[in-house]
Amino acid sequence: MTVPRRPEAPEPTAETVAITSGRRAVYLVVLVLLPGLLLALAVPAAWGWGIGPRDVVIAAVMYLISIFGIAIGYHRLFTHRAFKCRRPLRIVLMLAGGMAVEGPVTLWTAEHRRHHKYADREGDPHSPWRYGESGPALLRGMAHAHVSWFYTARRRSNLRHWVPDLMADPDVRRFDAAYPFVVVLSFALPTLAGGLWSMSWAGAWTALFWGGLVRYAVVHHVTWSVNSIAHTLGDRPFRTRDRSSNVRWVALLTLGEGWHNWHHVEPTCARHGVLKGQLDPSARLIHWFEQANWAYDVHWPDPDRLAARRRDRM
Ligand SMILES: [Zn+2]
Ligand SMILES: [Zn+2]
Repeated sequence: MTVPRRPEAPEPTAETVAITSGRRAVYLVVLVLLPGLLLALAVPAAWGWGIGPRDVVIAAVMYLISIFGIAIGYHRLFTHRAFKCRRPLRIVLMLAGGMAVEGPVTLWTAEHRRHHKYADREGDPHSPWRYGESGPALLRGMAHAHVSWFYTARRRSNLRHWVPDLMADPDVRRFDAAYPFVVVLSFALPTLAGGLWSMSWAGAWTALFWGGLVRYAVVHHVTWSVNSIAHTLGDRPFRTRDRSSNVRWVALLTLGEGWHNWHHVEPTCARHGVLKGQLDPSARLIHWFEQANWAYDVHWPDPDRLAARRRDRM
């Protein structure tokens, strides 16, 4: 007699895995030391030699590509599935996000999905409230949420647990495998643009410095401000279980991501700046993609949901 086999339950996967010391060293250099050093170097360079209009244009274009790539690609599309889009646009958005040098899309997404699940509670990889609410504890917490967690964390999000959807996507797997080349491209593109524009080696070098290196450092600190500043300062017009907040200058620099309060109410919403006067260029661009039929099934905010979650209308 044969006993009918019960369908096997899927193996539970751990939420986090240990980080090797080699990987921690890479995080320390690429995510903490190098951006800090470059920002420190940029000050005397700007003071001493200045920055010409050519490098301003190249750096600004690279900045917009990187920040839009993170906001629209890595964050709203890949992490939260706020919209669907055609394959060429998906690949372009993934590449643009890669220009920010903030890691492969799978790892970025895994850490961010874990942040949303545990926001400002035990298990959040980067809550500024981790050490308490007193002044010194909060300052320490903000440093932790900004960059310290990159090298103090002993565990990172397990890709198999958090991003099985992305791991099953052949385009994402190819992108992750090619990630070191994407990083090279992030510096090669501005260098090439500066060299060809000026037809000189000096032009290539200054474009590498401003449009490549300094831009990468600025993009990092601007992105991490959402984790450190937009979970502490600012206002909270909506009711959430966490301390996510809206900070106008962070929203301006991140092209909409600093309107972080509504984002924690409804992470799948394609628009973060949902109130009057809250400029959200990333949402505007998604709207243009939708009009061009490149993006579809876009989750736009629902006025009834907005009203229901307002603090002043309880
Ligand atoms: Zn958050
Ligand atoms: Zn998010």
